[in-house]
Amino acid sequence: MQHDRIVAEPNCDDDYDANSLTCDEALVRILDAVRPVSGIEALAIRTSLGRVIAVPVVSAINVPSHVNSAMDGFAVRAQDLPPSGQKKLQVIGTAFAGQPYREQVGENQAIRIMTGAVVPSETNVVIMQEHAQTTDDGFVIIDDRHKAGQNVRAVGEDITAGTEILHRGHLIGPADLGLIASLGIAEVEVYRKARVAFFSTGDELRGIGETLELGQIYDSNRYTLHGMLARLGVEIIDLGVVRDERDAVRSALIEAAAGADMVITSGGVSVGEADYIKGVLKEIGEVRFWKVAMKPGRPLSYGAIDKAAFFGLPGNPVSVMVTFYQFVQPCLMKIMGAKPRPQILLKAKAANTLKKRPGRVEYQRGILTRGDSGEFVVQTEADQGSGILSSMSNANCFVVLSMDSGQIEPGALVDVQPFFGIM
Ligand code: AMP
Ligand code: MG
Repeated sequence: MQHDRIVAEPNCDDDYDANSLTCDEALVRILDAVRPVSGIEALAIRTSLGRVIAVPVVSAINVPSHVNSAMDGFAVRAQDLPPSGQKKLQVIGTAFAGQPYREQVGENQAIRIMTGAVVPSETNVVIMQEHAQTTDDGFVIIDDRHKAGQNVRAVGEDITAGTEILHRGHLIGPADLGLIASLGIAEVEVYRKARVAFFSTGDELRGIGETLELGQIYDSNRYTLHGMLARLGVEIIDLGVVRDERDAVRSALIEAAAGADMVITSGGVSVGEADYIKGVLKEIGEVRFWKVAMKPGRPLSYGAIDKAAFFGLPGNPVSVMVTFYQFVQPCLMKIMGAKPRPQILLKAKAANTLKKRPGRVEYQRGILTRGDSGEFVVQTEADQGSGILSSMSNANCFVVLSMDSGQIEPGALVDVQPFFGIM
C-alpha cells in the first residue's frame, strides 16, 4: 500500500502538524488493511451471544404458524357482527393457547378464546373480553364497534417462511437468541473467535504483588485491555510485561503473532523508545508509524506481523483506551466479521469551559446527564491528563471536539460519544 504522508518520527509536543493524519484517514487505512477471519463454527443458540453470523439464518417456517388471537375474548364470524345495536351469540366452547377448539363454529355462535390460541377457521374476529358481556345462560352480548380481522394474528405476520432473518455480519444480541429459537433452529453458524495477543512494554512496570521501588509503577494497561477485549468476546492471549530491550520485544512480537489475528502492545512508542520497536517490526513485519491529529493518542503505530494486524498503542493509560475505542475496536469488529456499527454522537450542552486548541481532534472525558428541561448536559473531568485513568473510570462519555474547534465556552453544544447503550 502507498502512503503519502508517513512520518518516521512521531512527536507529541506540537499541536498542529501538516504531516499528521486525521482520525478519519487513519481509520480508513486501518480498515482497508484487514479482512474478516475465515473460520466458521456451529454453536448452540445460548453460546452464540456476542458472536457474528457467518451463514445467514433463513426461516423454514411461518411465524406465527397458525392464525391466532391477540387478545383474551371471543372469536366470532364477521357476518354475525351487528351492523348496529347489540347482538347475542351462543358461547359453545373455549380455545386455549396450545389447546384448539376443534368443533365447528356455526351461525350466531362464538367461542371463548385466549391470547395465542388458534382462531377457528370459520371465525375471523376476536372481540376483547372488556367489550363483551356474558350472560348466566351461556351467551355473550356484543355491540357494533367491531370489524373483520380485528385482534387476529395472521400466519407469517412476524416472519414468512424463506425469509433471511439474520444477515452475515450481524452481531448476535439477546433478541436474536429468542428470534433464532422462535424459528425452531438449534444451532447457528458464526465466525470463529478472533484471537488477540497483547503485552505491555516498560522497564518501570511491575506486577501486582511485587513491591514498587522508586520510579516503578504497576502495569495497568494489560488489565484495561483485558476488559475492553473481553467485552468484544474475543479470545485473549495475555503475554505479560516485556522489558524495554530489543531482543525481548522481538521474541515477544514473534510469539504473539504466531497464534493471533491481532497483536497489541502498549508503551514504547515515544521518541526515545520508538526506534527499537520500529527496527524490530521492520525486520519481522510491516509497520507504519503515524502521527494522528488527535489528543490523547499520538503517536499510533499500526501494521502487520505475518497474518496478524499490529497496533502499537501509546503507554499512557487514557491514550490506550481512547485509541482502542477509536481504532482498535472498529478494526477488530471487521476482523470478527461484523458489519461496522454507526457511531452514535449526541449533542450536549457544555457545563464548563473546555480548553482546546485547533489542529487536532480531542477526546475529553465527560459525565453526561439530563438537565432540568430534558436536554443533555456534559461536565468534563477536571484533569484531562493522558495518565489520569480515574478520569476514564468516572466518565460515561467522550466529548469529541473537532479538529478546527478552539476553546468551548459553557452553554455551547458539543458532540458526545456515550460509553454505554442498553444492550
Ligand atoms: P511510553 O509510551 O512507554 O513512553 O509510556 C508513557 C507513559 O505511560 C509513561 O508514564 C509510562 O510509565 C506509562 N505506562 C506505560 N505502560 C504502562 C502500563 N502498562 N501501565 C501503566 N502505565 C504505563
Ligand atoms: Mg515505556
